Amino acid sequence: MQISENEIKNIVEKVLSEIERDARFSQTITPSSISGKNGIFEKMEDAIAFAKKAQPIWASTPLEKKRVIIDAIRKTAIENAETIAKMTVEETKMGRVSHKIQKLINSAKLTPGIEDLHPEAWSGDHGLTIEELAPFGVIGAVTPSTHPVPTLINNAISMLSGGNTAVFNGHPGAKAVFAYGMELFNKAIVSAGGPENIITTVSNPTLDTGRILFTHPDIRLIVVTGGPGVVQAALKSGKKCITAGPGNPPVVVDETADLEKAAKSIIAGATFDNNLLCISEKEVFVVDSVADKFMRELEKAGAIRLTPPQIAKLTEKAFTKKGDEFILNRELVGKNASVLAEIVGLKINDSVLMLFGETKKDHPFVFEEQMMPFLPVVRTRDVNQAIDWAIEAERDYKHTAIMHSKNLEVLDRMARLCDCSIFVKNGPSFAGLAIGGEGYISFSIASPTGEGICTARTFTRRRRCTLVDYFRIV
Ligand code: NAD
Repeated sequence: MQISENEIKNIVEKVLSEIERDARFSQTITPSSISGKNGIFEKMEDAIAFAKKAQPIWASTPLEKKRVIIDAIRKTAIENAETIAKMTVEETKMGRVSHKIQKLINSAKLTPGIEDLHPEAWSGDHGLTIEELAPFGVIGAVTPSTHPVPTLINNAISMLSGGNTAVFNGHPGAKAVFAYGMELFNKAIVSAGGPENIITTVSNPTLDTGRILFTHPDIRLIVVTGGPGVVQAALKSGKKCITAGPGNPPVVVDETADLEKAAKSIIAGATFDNNLLCISEKEVFVVDSVADKFMRELEKAGAIRLTPPQIAKLTEKAFTKKGDEFILNRELVGKNASVLAEIVGLKINDSVLMLFGETKKDHPFVFEEQMMPFLPVVRTRDVNQAIDWAIEAERDYKHTAIMHSKNLEVLDRMARLCDCSIFVKNGPSFAGLAIGGEGYISFSIASPTGEGICTARTFTRRRRCTLVDYFRIV
């Protein structure tokens, strides 16, 4: 389906004006048209109450029917990917439409469903014990602005597969597209014969509605995907939390690497949706003996190299220093390379995906999670120094790291020392999420609380049933 920019602007404006009108109504008394329909409520308390009511109905829905309903979410996401992608860019002013379409489709296709849940059994002289994966109940989920609807699709498929219902507090900066997705998916669920309100949200998500979600007695599990602020807030809630927090993925390139392949992989990973992904390559440490050749390969593959004064100018615009802290300029997050280039006085085509430049290891672009397509490249004495510096730059997030090398010994050293949820060798970061690599996808990679790449089974409780002395069949 082709949809014009004007049509997209109109849809975003329409949804935002409905949300604003509802907010005005809610200050008087009248229930609004949007509220309570298609999983979207004015009040967080109502979103939770209706998801709670739906949970036992959903949990007892036969597995085969659950599969059909989850497939309806996948199909709707794929059919509407283009509109959702364009709406997201229009509302958040971040990322690239074509990449957002891919993210939506990948989320719909590669998120494991009910097949992710495997019972375990033990049989012996004393009979049979079985453990199954049961729902928590109602999950409270918080999603980021960087991939609002892909995270909704991924979390909804995973949480629903586990038999839970879920209440979402979307990012305030992406509330129109989030409401649009929520409406589409609720309609798809009901059309496929599923119950209403198995996924719900509020039309106007705020920090306040987030606080209500975190402290509500009917929320059994909190799942947050976002930066350090929301991770800390969730952990203080006193409830069980799964937190998918920030990352600052370093890349190591050593003298044995295929430099052409490394350069192409790094550009692909670092520029996907303008570096908005938490797993995207954010800084490179390259061994001195191949550093110049590697940077020439980056240029050959289409990246544009900035001079030291240009890097200084970009840094000045991208960060403000407050005491010892560097505060990221959100206005530049997820922008095209051409926008960053303009800041430093370069006019480049919008099709250029990445800028890069050589910096020292203590540069803010190296140790801050910048989420924009400028990649700092740091020269190191040898591969061991590259690994050590990369681990320092990762800041103990234990999220993602990447390495290009043919030397098994140093790959092994980095794999052990980085201690990350995802470590990708000789490929782009997104290979670690099954795009050009094996495995499955998730939009919630829970490093702080240790669940790693979250799927349906992550959102379940283990329950055991033991029959003494019977049911062994051999
Ligand atoms: P953000 O931290 O600004 O927002 C994330 C969500 O948290 C939003 O819905 C926001 O409204 C909410 N929030 C923030 N502070 C809160 C508080 N005190 N109480 C309740 N809710 C609160 O993140 P963003 O800029 O939208 O997304 C980018 C960040 O998310 C990056 O740091 C990125 O690494 C991280 N991220 C991590 C993963 C992962 O899987 N680990 C996935 C995507 C994004």
